[in-house]
Amino acid sequence: MPEFNPQTLDALRQPLETGEVTVARANHHITYPARVQLVAAMNPCRCGGGAGQCRRGPRCASEYQGRLSGPLLDRIDLQLDVPAVTAADLALPPPHEGTAEVAARVQAAREMQADRCPVLNAVMDQATLERVALPDAPGQALLSKAATALALSARGYHRTLRVARTIADLDGGGGVRRPHVAEALSFRRIWASAQAPPVVRDATVS
Ligand SMILES: [Zn+2]
Repeated sequence: MPEFNPQTLDALRQPLETGEVTVARANHHITYPARVQLVAAMNPCRCGGGAGQCRRGPRCASEYQGRLSGPLLDRIDLQLDVPAVTAADLALPPPHEGTAEVAARVQAAREMQADRCPVLNAVMDQATLERVALPDAPGQALLSKAATALALSARGYHRTLRVARTIADLDGGGGVRRPHVAEALSFRRIWASAQAPPVVRDATVS
């Protein structure tokens, strides 16, 4: 992802936020529908190796990762480290849950969402979100603490709630509880620099 021009990347902010893109020229502007699911990948640094394998030190990673702006990262809800596959990993048996089983779980969660609200969690309005994704008291306490510790923006706060609601749906559709909030927070990592991103520890999530 950081191989794209930073201005091009930042142009993604509008469609990711509103589901529309506006093209403006001198005397005219036009808006097109642009609801997308963005899936993107990046190496830890330009050489690809990251910590321990890069010969150019931490600046290599910080410069590379710095090409993605904070506001763009703020609109990416699920951010994951994907460690390199080792030879030992290749010898492991295949996971017990295959694509078909996961698809069935996702379908069940989507049906639950459709019963609750005419639109999916990702696009429901904020008032509905605050009604249906209100976490239990320990979940609210964790979210408030994390909002300060991670300096969550208002957008980040509400996007975390959306993800927590979906995690709770995948977990059977009951209320949003602390483990769901903790898992949602674990996907929200602001890579402002090459330093390790802040982590909110939560013993209830393995
Ligand atoms: Zn490097």
